[in-house]
Amino acid sequence: MSKNAKQATQIVSLGRDKKYTKGIINPPVFRASTVVFETLDDMRFAIKNKTNGELFYGRRGTPTHFSFQEAISELEGGAGTALYPSGAGAISGALLSFLKSDDHLLMVDTAYEPTRDLCNNLLAGFGIETTYYDPMIGAGIRELIQPNTKVLFLESPGSITMEVQDVPTLSRIAHEHDIIVMLDNTWASPINSRPFEMGVDISIQAATKYIVGHSDVMMGTATANEQYWPQLRENSYLMGQTTSPDDVFLAARGLRTLGVRMAQHHKNGLKVANWLAQRPEVDHLRHPAFESCPGHEFFKRDFSSANGLFSFVLKQGDLKSVKAFVEGMAHFKMGFSWGGYESLILGVFGIEKIRSATQWDSSKPLIRLHIGLEDPDDLIADLAQAFERYNQAL
Ligand SMILES: *Cc1c(COP(=O)(O)O)cnc(C)c1O
Repeated sequence: MSKNAKQATQIVSLGRDKKYTKGIINPPVFRASTVVFETLDDMRFAIKNKTNGELFYGRRGTPTHFSFQEAISELEGGAGTALYPSGAGAISGALLSFLKSDDHLLMVDTAYEPTRDLCNNLLAGFGIETTYYDPMIGAGIRELIQPNTKVLFLESPGSITMEVQDVPTLSRIAHEHDIIVMLDNTWASPINSRPFEMGVDISIQAATKYIVGHSDVMMGTATANEQYWPQLRENSYLMGQTTSPDDVFLAARGLRTLGVRMAQHHKNGLKVANWLAQRPEVDHLRHPAFESCPGHEFFKRDFSSANGLFSFVLKQGDLKSVKAFVEGMAHFKMGFSWGGYESLILGVFGIEKIRSATQWDSSKPLIRLHIGLEDPDDLIADLAQAFERYNQAL
């Protein structure tokens, strides 16, 4: 396929080379542990080329994996992609591939909670020190850099509170100090931002979310640039990271409709968000496409679209009134993992406990929504009822 093809064409076509598909539309599911060789020369050839798409051993992947890896690498704009059994696996796999004892890690304060827990528990136990930084720190990151700082980790927008980071500025300063820049890019998915053009070295996806898109597979990807791909690939191999070809098949199937799903999540999400913005009970929206979201200017500059995931903050409320809001919904279900076709709602408490470099005012309740592919008018009607229950419970 032409490298200049437009994104929608790429989403449909990438990784469908005949060497993977044998001419079938979708790359088949190749299940493998052992690969057998006719001659010693064949085996030696496979050993030599095991990282350039030659079959070597199941853990190195099969054409099912290679095809999907190639598609994600191209969409993200990196040199190679390692696959992991979950998004959390991709985050820990990337960090552990580059950090060692006595290294220092700069972690965004608004990271996904299990990422924080990884730093505070496992990494701390290995003698890796973490400093949390304000997602809006921008060039101020310079003051937090130490001689032993090895990795700068970003997640943009931030988890739950959705602060959008100035990725190019942060990357530029990190590179002045030879620091590796990693980004949890799950919200953008591989199609709504250009992480490598913004200076990111390793872009991570919880493929579980929008890539899979149907809430039925756990998977993670970490895509690296030329400089860091060999180390990421080899260390992820050493840590025994593999994914089932059946799961990869489903992730690849999800990928084919990512473009149209994202456009619809974005459109439905905006319709619901615009309606929420008019509600008197709402203090402000945490949706990157709205000015009330910190870093909105970076969203406008760095992203091509939003999606269905955002939050809003109520002017007042407590456990009882938020419970009244989120319980008894007709269409929204309560659950954590987003990015599927279905709408989700979550009343989030205790945000101040997962922040240390920034302050969060917990007196105003926050509700997170994932807007799915239902008709947004039904979702709005559902939320209107929720406001009625909430107002009665106040
Ligand atoms: C869900 C999520 C993860 C973790 O992915 P899993 O596949 O659930 O392990 C990591 N980062 C972000 C931003 C996520 O939303």
